[in-house]
Amino acid sequence: MDVVILGAGIAGLACADQLRAAGHQVTLFDKGRGPGGRMSTRRVELDGEQLQFDHGAQYFTVRDDRFRRQVQDWQTQGVASPWQEAGPDAWVGTPAMNAPVRRMAETHRVHFRHHVVALTRDIAGWHVRLQEGQHGPYDAAIVALPAEQAAAFLGSHDLMMAADAMAARSQPCWTAMMAFENRVPIAADSIRQHGIIGWAARDGAKPGRHDGETWVVQAHGSWSALHLEDTPEAVAQALLDALLVHADGPVPPVRYLAAHRWRFAMTPGVDKGALWNGALRLGACGDWLQGPRVELAWLSGHRLGAMIGSAAEAA
Ligand SMILES: Cc1cc2nc3c(=O)[nH]c(=O)nc-3n(C[C@H](O)[C@H](O)[C@H](O)COP(=O)(O)OP(=O)(O)OC[C@H]3O[C@@H](n4cnc5c(N)ncnc54)[C@H](O)[C@@H]3O)c2cc1C
Repeated sequence: MDVVILGAGIAGLACADQLRAAGHQVTLFDKGRGPGGRMSTRRVELDGEQLQFDHGAQYFTVRDDRFRRQVQDWQTQGVASPWQEAGPDAWVGTPAMNAPVRRMAETHRVHFRHHVVALTRDIAGWHVRLQEGQHGPYDAAIVALPAEQAAAFLGSHDLMMAADAMAARSQPCWTAMMAFENRVPIAADSIRQHGIIGWAARDGAKPGRHDGETWVVQAHGSWSALHLEDTPEAVAQALLDALLVHADGPVPPVRYLAAHRWRFAMTPGVDKGALWNGALRLGACGDWLQGPRVELAWLSGHRLGAMIGSAAEAA
């Protein structure tokens, strides 16, 4: 089959890997400027120096054997490394969190900066409408987007799938990115669940980084929801203040401070793994089908690709 996938995050790409292995042709469209999705990395030019911040997922767990094999392969390729600071089964992308997704995307036909506005179907098959132009027909379509965005596309074709997506509402997450002239006097490289902080990490201390003193500070979901419409400046300052409560000495000057609002960050998930409507040849994968983690998003995409492969064989 000639398959189109909406969304080239880790779920969409894991599905694409499986489909290609089963002999299908795959084309992916993603509105992002580059690879990563919610595993993305923000790059900033400051005084002639490049800074980077993992401003989405902070690390990922490796518990499932299939995912373990994938991660070992990434480690061999130099794009992932264990990071004990976050736990015995925690890993990060190297030299940045988006590196594994970038590596996966390199091996597929992915169109970044392509914002899909509609998914339609006629006698010839599936068509993807972009802000400029249209692509298709395709034999099958996969929606690999966050739940809220997936629901909008699925609703015109399969109401049950759309209802599942609507049941998996996400929480937002305000994230602040900070760079300092010198080391901030905080002994630990990470802080969990303290005051308004859900998670904070000395980003430059992760393996493979050479960024000096950079921190990523994420507010927990309920604070983010309450302050969703605050200005980025006010949020960045609040998260900086919350971090500096942990300093036990003079704090060096701040070189960079910004905030990013993830409107759809974490979903509880609906525990269905992946969805496939064989009559329409329409599928859905993503973290909202399995749980709010990188590993579970990968497993959802992997599972959908395998389901389609075996359905095609049976037919
Ligand atoms: C702030 C934050 C912190 C997190 N921390 C962790 C963590 O520490 N550990 C962990 O395991 N997980 C964490 N997660 C969750 C993890 O990042 C996600 O579960 C996982 O990356 C989801 O992958 P996905 O492929 O399902 O979705 P995504 O990565 O969101 O991929 C969907 C893709 O669809 C694209 N897209 C959306 N709409 C359109 C459109 N209309 N047209 C074209 N493309 C579109 C997007 O650009 C995106 O690339 C975190 C997430 C956030 C936001």
